[in-house]
This record gives sequence, structure tokens and C-alpha cells, in this order.
Amino acid sequence: MTRFSDLNLNTSILKALSEQSYKTPTPIQQQAIPHILTGNDFLGIAQTGTGKTAAFVLPLLHRLSEDRTSKNWHLPRSIILTPTRELAAQIHKKLKDYGKYLKLTYGVIFGGVNEKPQIHMLHKGVDVLVATPGRFLDLLQQKCFSLKYVQCCVLDEADRMLDMGFLPDIERIVKQLPQCRQTLLFSATLPKAIEHLSDQFLNHPVRIDITPPATASKDVEQSLFFVQKSQKQELLRNILKHDACRRVLVFTRTKFAADRVCKGLKKGEVASSAIHGDKSQRERERALNKFKLGTIRVLVATDVASRGIDVADITHVINYDLPEEPHGYVHRIGRTGRAGNRGCAFSFCDSEEKSLLKHIEKCIQKEIPVTSAKVFWPDFEPIRVPESEKTKKTPRARFYNAKFARKKRSSA
Ligand code: AMP
Repeated sequence: MTRFSDLNLNTSILKALSEQSYKTPTPIQQQAIPHILTGNDFLGIAQTGTGKTAAFVLPLLHRLSEDRTSKNWHLPRSIILTPTRELAAQIHKKLKDYGKYLKLTYGVIFGGVNEKPQIHMLHKGVDVLVATPGRFLDLLQQKCFSLKYVQCCVLDEADRMLDMGFLPDIERIVKQLPQCRQTLLFSATLPKAIEHLSDQFLNHPVRIDITPPATASKDVEQSLFFVQKSQKQELLRNILKHDACRRVLVFTRTKFAADRVCKGLKKGEVASSAIHGDKSQRERERALNKFKLGTIRVLVATDVASRGIDVADITHVINYDLPEEPHGYVHRIGRTGRAGNRGCAFSFCDSEEKSLLKHIEKCIQKEIPVTSAKVFWPDFEPIRVPESEKTKKTPRARFYNAKFARKKRSSA
């Protein structure tokens, strides 16, 4: 069995890891760390929850701590770009945890908060800078820092950055980096655009696939409930009555739905909070902290806001609405069943979402087992939907239908 001490990491890093009670490296860590230590470019296909943050942070810290050549204390030598503020804050925390015994400095910048403290921090100087792309470019254009000493650039959750429309920002940033650098790209999935990004900016990368794209963890028990839209709130309330639902993450497609679900839960006296793009950074952090501490046991989130949620022991993920992007299903349910724990993923599907379901099942290459809503809600009665309503589709579902039809035609 590989141990961290077999990976040739600096003893100060090993000491910090033992304080984190990490005993053995996860598969992505075992495979990535030796390659990244040698200075190779790296393309890692791995979901969150696999330990991928440490897979790039540990060798990055090691290389910086060994670097005796170009120490310029005022400018970043490594940058880590990540899609959301929560994820940026989380990576920053990991840097401080794993690198606490190294003489290195770590900073984080993201939008939605006052930029002044971030500018002050940049003027003082940092070795490793974690950032979301928008604020990064803002402060770069204001000349708060320069990229001329960057030796390593990490693009984390690249597929998510793509989904969120950050691709042009990423391209602008990477084009300004020194030619001679190491580039590490991590993504949960490998759509064509990410392959293109890799071809464009990575130099003969070592490629490691830890999980095939769109593979749901086997530690997550998945169930599907056929209900109508008007019944979802009641089913959710009934499910939440069960003691096993100790820490529950509910996903909705829209910000509006997230707020409405929260309001509905309040009426049923279930304490919950919503996090989505319209909430301020402070509101999001407060909600996330309450969820982590167990002050509230239900957090309602949209996909975009969910990315940084690394909360241990989420017992249930409930897809109140099915995601419009099939891979989103895998991301969502990957929030539970982490670090060896078992988790449950319940998905509600109404008559308008059946085509989304079809695409999800195609993507995960399995049918999600159906459970009757009566199991949780004894008075549940299915509502009959007129035939004409059954074929109604959301615009996104129509888009995916057209896409799959095109694919079918071209492979025929
Ligand atoms: P990540 O995929 O980076 O979001 O990591 C998921 C969780 O696993 C985080 O809470 C990490 O602290 C934890 N973790 C990462 N590596 C290890 C390890 N080798 N042993 C135990 N836990 C780990």
C-alpha cells in the first residue's frame, strides 16, 4: 500500500498531513503526485470528493518550497483558478492546512466582496494565489499583480468553468502566462471543449482518468420518485420527517425555486437556508456555516452555488428538480457518499422532466430505481396528467433531444 511518505514529499508537508489524519493517499493522489512533482503538465479527470485538491496542492507546495531560484516575494509563483467563490475559499483553506509548516504565503481573491483587502494582500505579496477568473482579471488589469513569475497554473473544475461561461477569461489569463510553466487541468468530465483547452494550453500532459466521465459513486443509493410538480413540496416535507435525513442538500434548477422551497419548508417548521447566485457572499457563507454546524439540517441550492459545498456527512441529496445538463446529476449526487460514507440521492421527476430523466439515464448508463412516494408519504395519490401535458418539454430538454437526435443521425 502506498503511503504519503512514499511520495517524496517534503517532511513539513507530511507533518501537516498527519495532523489532518490523512493516512493513505487516495487513487488520484497516488497517481497524480509523482507526475506533478516531476514538472509534467497534467490532465486529471476526477470528481470532487476524490481528494483531487490535495492531488495538486501537495506537489505544488513541495515544488515551491524546494524552489531556490526565482524567489520574488511580491509576485505569485503559482495560481489556481476555480469556478466559484466557495471553492476558492476551500482551496485556500487547504493550502493553509497542508502548507502550514512551509515558509510560503497563500492568498485568495474572488468577486462579490470588497476588493480593497484583496488588493492590500496582493501588494504585500503571495506565493500561491487562488482565484475565480473574473476578479483575477479585474485585479490583473488594475496591475495589482503580475504573472511574470508564475511557474505553475492550475485550472480546477475546468468543465464547470466552461459551463459558467469562463472560457474566454481563462484563455485571456493563460495567454498572459510565461511560456515556460507547468499547467495542471482538473475536470470531472471531458467534453470536447475541455480537450481543446488541454490541446491549446498543456504541453504533452500526463493524462489520468480516475473515474470514467459521468460515473456515479457506488456509495450513493439512488432512487427516483414520479410525482407532479404540485406534489414535490409535500413529498419533500414527508421525506424530511425521517430521522435518517440528518444533513440534506436539496437542489433546484432556479434561484426562484430555491427560495420557494425554503419558504415552504419554513411553513412546515423545517429550518433551512437557500444559496444561489443572487445571495451575497456573506449570506452564502452564513448559510453554509449553519449547515456545517448542524444549526440547519437542510440547505437548498442551485447548481452554480453548489460547487464549493464540501460538507462532510451529507446524508441525502434531493433533486427537487432534475438538472438540465445530464452531467449535473453526477455532480449533484457526488455531494453525498463521500470519504467512504454511504449516501442517498432522491430525485423527483414530474411529467415535464421525463426527457431530462432519459438523458441522465443515458449519461450514467443505468436506470435509476423507482420508489413509490407512498414509502415516505402514506397519503400520496398519483395525479393523472392529460396525454397532451405528458409530451410538454422544457426548452433545455428540447435542446438535448435535438442534440441526441443529431448524434444518432450522424452515427447512423
Ligand atoms: P476533494 O476531492 O479535494 O474535494 O476532497 C474531498 C475530501 O476528502 C476533503 O474533505 C478532503 O479533506 C478529504 N481528503 C483528501 N485527501 C484525503 C486523504 N488522503 N485521506 C483522507 N481524506 C482526504
